[in-house]
Amino acid sequence: MTAQTASDPVANRVVIVRDVATLQAAVAAWRAAGERIALVPTMGALHAGHLSLVAAAKRRAGRALLSIFVNPTQFAPGEDFNSYPRSLAHDVDAFAAAGGDLIFAPEIEAVYPEGFATTVLVGGPAKAGLEDKFRPEHFAGVATVVAKLFQQCLPDAAIFGEKDYQQLKVVERMVRDLDFGIEIVAAPTLRAKDGLAFSTRNEYLSAAERARAPLLYAALIRCAGALRDGAAMDVALASARASLQNAGFAVDYFEARHAETLAPIAALGAAPVRLLAAVRLGATRLIDNVAV
Ligand code: AMP
Repeated sequence: MTAQTASDPVANRVVIVRDVATLQAAVAAWRAAGERIALVPTMGALHAGHLSLVAAAKRRAGRALLSIFVNPTQFAPGEDFNSYPRSLAHDVDAFAAAGGDLIFAPEIEAVYPEGFATTVLVGGPAKAGLEDKFRPEHFAGVATVVAKLFQQCLPDAAIFGEKDYQQLKVVERMVRDLDFGIEIVAAPTLRAKDGLAFSTRNEYLSAAERARAPLLYAALIRCAGALRDGAAMDVALASARASLQNAGFAVDYFEARHAETLAPIAALGAAPVRLLAAVRLGATRLIDNVAV
């Protein structure tokens, strides 16, 4: 079954598919025509950051495929699964305007049919003690759904945002370990003018919180600059954490890690370093990261 939104002519060029057989027929037809297919996995509620991933997909492949699935297994009980924004009509229009071709928006049964009993457990970057320390089941849910979406969509490439840096490293690890044969493309974080990374969860911020939220990115770039200027790692990190706490953020972590393995790093040296942070501002949790 395929469905198309009726209203406007641009959106009508995007096909919305809900079942795997139709999806795979479309992908097979493109492949038979010699076209490359790039997948952008999302949970919908598209914003400018997501659309920059669609643009990256279009630069790499003739066909851009968007998946929209709010994946219950990557939310812990008490997290925002039920209240997570859902806006399919808006997403169709935005994806069409960005030049996208097909949206795969499966029902829950198409991803987790009755009796589903498989979990993909990644070690290494998924056990780095960052997001996993605060959301222990999260990356099992992410890896399992990404593996499933890869098998369903069979893309040549898949685009992931550096915004979710640990997730990007987990997906890269899984694809190498399990020989998925899919090129993983990392897309830079798209930010509002004041530096705040676009995120669906920014919608939860009050006006006062939204005004303060850019301090997270400011603290990251100030810390990265201090490290490049020779500041001691522990001093620079402690100062960044303190500045955020003084500004009213609760800091889950603010850490320097090896940019590929996410292993702890004691000092700047030959290894590439990434600063990664998660903070809470009122009821909203924000994550961000920068290269050093
Ligand atoms: P989500 O719908 O939040 O699961 O995100 C889907 C994809 O969009 C993930 O690969 C995210 O890393 C990416 N993404 C989210 N926000 C941004 C952003 N501000 N810039 C670039 N990519 C982003």
